[in-house]
This record gives sequence, C-alpha cells and structure tokens, in this order.
Amino acid sequence: MANEPIRSILIVGGGTAGWMAANLLATRLRRLPIEITLVESPDIRTVGVGEATVPAIRDYFRAIGVTEAEVMRASQGTVKLGIEFRDWRAPGTSFFHPFGRYGVDAFSVPFHQYWLKRRMAGDETPLSAYCLPTQAAMRNLMLLPPEQPANDLGVFDWAIHFDAGLFARFLSQRAQDDLGVRHVEGTISGAKRDTENGRIASVSLSDGRTLDADLFIDCSGFRSLLLGQTLEVPYEDWTHLLPCDRAVAMPCTHGDELTPYTRSTALPAGWQWRIPLQHRVGNGYVYSSRHISDDEATATLITNLEGEALAEPNMLRFRTGHRTRVWEKNCVALGLAAGFLEPLESTSIVLIQSGIERLLAHFPDRDFDPTLADEFNRITALEYARIRDFLLLHYWGGQRNEPMWRECRALDLPETLAQRIRTFKGSGKLPRFEWDSFQPPSWLSMFAGFDIWPPRHDPLADQFSTEELAGTFGQIREAIGRAVALASPHADFIADTCAAPSSPQPAAVPV
Ligand SMILES: Cc1cc2nc3c(=O)[nH]c(=O)nc-3n(C[C@H](O)[C@H](O)[C@H](O)COP(=O)(O)OP(=O)(O)OC[C@H]3O[C@@H](n4cnc5c(N)ncnc54)[C@H](O)[C@@H]3O)c2cc1C
Repeated sequence: MANEPIRSILIVGGGTAGWMAANLLATRLRRLPIEITLVESPDIRTVGVGEATVPAIRDYFRAIGVTEAEVMRASQGTVKLGIEFRDWRAPGTSFFHPFGRYGVDAFSVPFHQYWLKRRMAGDETPLSAYCLPTQAAMRNLMLLPPEQPANDLGVFDWAIHFDAGLFARFLSQRAQDDLGVRHVEGTISGAKRDTENGRIASVSLSDGRTLDADLFIDCSGFRSLLLGQTLEVPYEDWTHLLPCDRAVAMPCTHGDELTPYTRSTALPAGWQWRIPLQHRVGNGYVYSSRHISDDEATATLITNLEGEALAEPNMLRFRTGHRTRVWEKNCVALGLAAGFLEPLESTSIVLIQSGIERLLAHFPDRDFDPTLADEFNRITALEYARIRDFLLLHYWGGQRNEPMWRECRALDLPETLAQRIRTFKGSGKLPRFEWDSFQPPSWLSMFAGFDIWPPRHDPLADQFSTEELAGTFGQIREAIGRAVALASPHADFIADTCAAPSSPQPAAVPV
C-alpha cells in the first residue's frame, strides 16, 4: 500500500534555526511537491547571540550552495581556527583548542605518545608547538588547509564567526528569493491537535489566521511552543552538572587585535567570550546565578570590554539540557526549542545542522512511523550527552579556587566522562564513542591544556629512541615554521577575500 507523502512543512520561528532549516530543506526537497512555509513573529525577537561556529558550518554552506566568502561578506564574518582558553587552568594560564591535529602519527602510534616519551626525558616543548593552526592563530595569521595534505600537519580545519542577525537575514533572503519558501509574519497564539492521534493539526495566529501542515518544525527558541508547550515533551535538565544558567551579552567596538579565534576567559563565576567580527566585537559573560548576581555579572562584563559598548546589555536565562524526545508525533524541534548546551564550544548551531540532516535521513511520510522518530531521538540524545561530557571536562579540569570551580571539581561525573578521564590518565589513550562531536585531538587539547597526563607513554612509542625523536620533532617544528611564514595576517585575509561592503576595515593591527 502506498503511503501518503508529506506535502507541507511549517517552520515555526525565524531565528538561525528556522532559516537554516528553511534553506537546507528547500534545497534538498526541491524536486518534490512539498510546500515549505516559515512563520515568525514580528514582535518576538530572536535570541540575538550565537556568533561562533565549528568547521561543520562550512559543510552546511556547501549543502545549500553558498561559499564562505559570500556568507562572510554578508554577515561581517571572520575566521575561527579554534578557541583560546585564558585563565581556565588557573589565573594567568592560557591554552588553545585548535580545529586540527598535533604532530605526525607514526606506525599507528599517535604523535602525543612520542611527545610523552620526550617529555619524560626532560623535553619541555609544549604539545601546542606541534600544531600548525595553533601556531598560526597565536600570531593572528590565517592559512587555508591544503586540499591534499602531504602529512598530518596539514590536516586542520576552520570555522567562522558571524553576526547572527545578518546571517539569519542572508538565509532569509535566499530562502524566499531563490528557494521558494513562503514567509508569513504573525504571532502564534495557540495550536490545535488532532483528537484521534494527538498530532499537531494547525497553529492559529493572533490575527485570526490559521496555518496547517503535515510536518511541523519547531524553531521557536527557548519557548519551545510546539514540542514543549503543545506536546508537553519534558526537559532533561543538566543544570546540576553544568553550573552556568545565565548570560549577559554586549557588543563593543574593536580595541584589540582581529584574532582568528574565539577567546574564552574564565572568571570567578563563569567565563567571558570574545568573538571578533569585522564591524564589532561580540562579548558575553556566561555565569552561574548561584554564584554571582545579574548586576555584578553585567558590571564585570562592562569593565572588561575592550572598546565602547554598542548596545544595552542583553540578559539571557537558560537551562542546560534537552527535550527528552526532540521528535514527537509530527513535530521535530531544532535549535533552542530542542535544547541548549551552553556556548563554551559553540555547539548549538552545529546541533541545528545535524538535526536537519538527521531529519532528512529519517524523513517520514504521513504515517509518521514511530521507529523513525525513535532512532532520530536515540541519536540526538547521544549527541547532546557527548557534547555535555566535553563541556564538563572544561569545568572539572581546572584548578581555580573560587566556590563555583571547587564545586565543579567535586562533581560526581557521568560514567561516560569518568571513563574517558580514567583511560587518558592511565595510558594516554583517547577513546571514541558513538556520535562523538569532538574527536581525539579536541579531547587531547583539553587534557594538555589542563596539564593532565598519564605517568607513562605507549610501549609502542619505544620503536624510536628519544634522540631519534628529537631530530624528527625539530623537523616538524621547522615545517610548521615554514608554513606559518607563508600565512597571511587575518585582517589581510578578510580584506582580500570577504570584506563586508560597507564596513570600515578593522582597526586592529595584526602582529
Ligand atoms: C548566551 C548564548 C550564547 C550563544 N552562543 C552561541 C555560539 O557562539 N555558537 C552557537 O552555535 N550557538 C550559540 N548560541 C545558541 C544560538 O544562539 C542558537 O542556537 C541560535 O541562535 C538558534 O536560535 P533559535 O533560532 O533556536 O531561536 P531564536 O533566535 O530565539 O528564534 C526564535 C524564533 O521564534 C519566533 N517565535 C517565538 N515565539 C513565537 C510565536 N509565538 N509566534 C511566532 N513566532 C515565534 C521568534 O520570532 C524567532 O523568530 C548561544 C546561545 C546563548 C543563549
């Protein structure tokens, strides 16, 4: 028996999640007679933050047929080679989480095992000296990864920072002008459910209009209008693990260098982000409301601004976690309507992206076979949990002494994270789990940053003597030095490839 195909999709919400979904769904489903409508409220603003990404965003650009340069020009974009973590291990320290690898593996033994061997022999050269994107980033340089890297040194990636409002506008224009997405402005005041199967039948707007569809995509932000409010899917709250539950954001003018990376600076009750764009710098203090008041957090952020404030403080409250079922009946949630893990590793936008891809991989017909939703939900829950563990390591690993940080160190860790830490501390091995978003080099960068090391190296690293390794390590550092010498200052890269038309050139001078 032929099943009834989906003929209409209603996307609720016009923030980053809604417009990303509109573009990718309209691109991938363009040969099918499916009408896609996006409804957004002219009165309810978008969250207004979310400006740092991970390299997967570039796969999204390719998937919808745009280039990095186009997006960066339209959204005042800059390059992100990774994240600098200042004061996380202890005040005065700094380390870098690059989108790249360390050194060159040999005979199936990861480079860091050879590095551990040299370290035990007294070599104090930091692991970061063997990572090309880290070395470029620390000098405010940008270089593109080679298409066919000659060895592991050339295996790295890059992401972008953008103005979230401009990015959504870019996607909105494209979806409407090029992809035929219907745009409705209106505020949803209620939703009607089918009395037989409990599915969402339609939403009503405050002006009396009604919108129906076969499939509903809830991109309504923290309100979670359809999944949370209408379908009453509960929320799995991880606030007891990740302490921060608020943020205050405030853009300012440039006062410091145009770094090709995000900076995260640990503070007594949380951490502060710095995201440099072409026209301004995004800043925010993510904090635990149990450890600092809103007023104190705002005052701290204002004191720390490198330039003149460009807007009033934007106060945001959140609960870390996710809806227990992100796909329920005929509704799939994306973005903040599905869940939120604090922005420490810029993982929300990539979760939107993987959510859309997963929906396409499990695309239903009007029967809404529950096994599709079950599999979608199983993978989604794993993806959130893996990222949660990675974020948690950031809070657990440091040695800061303020109450919030001491509490984080004393936490009862989820067994999945405890196992990773035990394994690394025992042998330096970096286990991979199903649906990990962060790969071994990322975990390694955290362990290295927090100076957590095993007492031994891999026995297979003994196939080279420490003297032999010294020679090879010197060659690797030289090769990195040669590559770095060919890199462009980040500001030049932006000016040459993707300067936003009306923006003045960034004032900052790269080193
Ligand atoms: C402090 C903070 C920092 C962040 N930093 C990052 C980062 O660096 N990187 C990253 O990847 N992510 C980050 N995020 C997450 C990121 O901002 C979001 O994932 C992203 O912006 C998507 O938001 P959204 O589209 O789900 O929701 P929103 O932007 O809130 O959009 C919701 C939409 O729903 C509409 N809507 C709501 N109610 C109704 C209604 N009744 N009727 C009609 N329409 C309605 C609104 O009008 C709006 O268009 C951050 C989040 C926070 C809180």
